[in-house]
Amino acid sequence: MDRKTKIIATVGPSLASEQKIHSAINLGADVIRINFSHGTLEDHKQFINWARSSDKQVAIMQDIQGPKIRTGFVKENTILQKSEEINLTNQESESSNESIFINYKNLFKDVDLNDRIFVDDGQIILKIIDKQKNNLRALILIGGELRDNQGVAFPDSNLSVSAITKQDIEHLKFGTEHDIDFVAVSFVRNGKDIKSVRDIVPKDVKIIAKIELKTALENIDEILQVSDGVMVARGDLGVQLPIEQVPFVQKQILDAANKKGKISITATEMLQSMKSSYRPTRAEVTDITNAILEGSDAVMLSAETSIGDHPNRVIEVMSGICEEVDSRNDTSSLQSKEDLKEDSFTTTLARAAVQIADDIDARAIVAFTETGKTPLLISNFRPKAKIITFTTKVKTLNQLNLFWGVEQFHIDRKEHFSEMLKSANDFLLEEKKYNKGDKVIVVAGTPPNMEAATNLIRVHNLGDV
Ligand code: PEP
Repeated sequence: MDRKTKIIATVGPSLASEQKIHSAINLGADVIRINFSHGTLEDHKQFINWARSSDKQVAIMQDIQGPKIRTGFVKENTILQKSEEINLTNQESESSNESIFINYKNLFKDVDLNDRIFVDDGQIILKIIDKQKNNLRALILIGGELRDNQGVAFPDSNLSVSAITKQDIEHLKFGTEHDIDFVAVSFVRNGKDIKSVRDIVPKDVKIIAKIELKTALENIDEILQVSDGVMVARGDLGVQLPIEQVPFVQKQILDAANKKGKISITATEMLQSMKSSYRPTRAEVTDITNAILEGSDAVMLSAETSIGDHPNRVIEVMSGICEEVDSRNDTSSLQSKEDLKEDSFTTTLARAAVQIADDIDARAIVAFTETGKTPLLISNFRPKAKIITFTTKVKTLNQLNLFWGVEQFHIDRKEHFSEMLKSANDFLLEEKKYNKGDKVIVVAGTPPNMEAATNLIRVHNLGDV
């Protein structure tokens, strides 16, 4: 594998068969994201089973909806015309040109005259022009086709929503029953929101905070403290903030995550034109390249793979862009990690391992890990060498699929470091076809089998055991 940046592909109708999911994984999807805002539990189960039946390692990310306010089902071919007026209701009903259903209990309480309402990530914009006790009337500022279940944002209103909904709790239980690897939490406001998810999911599930609200940006440090990583959720960010601030906020979030040694994902509209077009735009290729150079561990595809015309082609294009960036080893923006203070002992070890590997042109850094923490820190220092990781834990094995530059393998539990070294040595020579005499840096915890006990760096010549 020459690609180090990882790819998350969202599933949906365009990938709805075992064969399509397997092709997506074979072409480069490292993580399958299931967006719980769409589809049924039966659909989600089907996607999980299809992904898990692939021969290739893959991680499953469950993306819970959070208090996302949405429209419901819409009468076919509902096109909203600019400058016309429309009613808004919170009584469940089919939306049409007359009235739009919005699933928010406090709609009439929290939304005021002149507030704007953004539908479908701002593709449609409405403005409240009349407010009665049980009726809101809006002017259509920007029209377009109203589709089923689109997100609704209220950039001018103060909403009284709770972070984790009853439906999220049900979905988290479903995720636990199906042994998912990551949970992405929508509309996080602070560290407490993450902790309430942490209380529900098993300890070994990694939690990704989606940063899409102004409040989350204000509380980014405490959110990073308690989560395993963050996603720059540019769809909602682009409606919650003036859109021209999104590139700066992206850099701010990636920087903050990298300084804390956490997973960082850039998401949304990365190859948007390829929902229908066969080739990306130059702007999209440049955007993805910059997102990687700014320190993203992974880049995410949403509608491009879930409802797009050619999901496989999209994955191939994304993979090609990542490989090009990764081949240049241009990590200049990431090399000064002096501020990375998280667990300073493991961080120091990771930094030293990367420095030695770069200095002696090591073929790989070999890391033994129980939780994935050591390879994540090593990955954060963006070594030139590959990070080959061995773990005894299946969940960790899956999760490592999201870590930049990491390739992972299962290993049986060993009692002594010498046995670990021998099995890594033999694996690299026999399976990976490395050469005798190739130098690798080995990072491990001794004695083996103790979590977070990484305390050894060794320069090893393959064959010397
Ligand atoms: C986003 O808003 O960018 C995002 C990733 O979330 P969702 O796909 O749930 O809208």
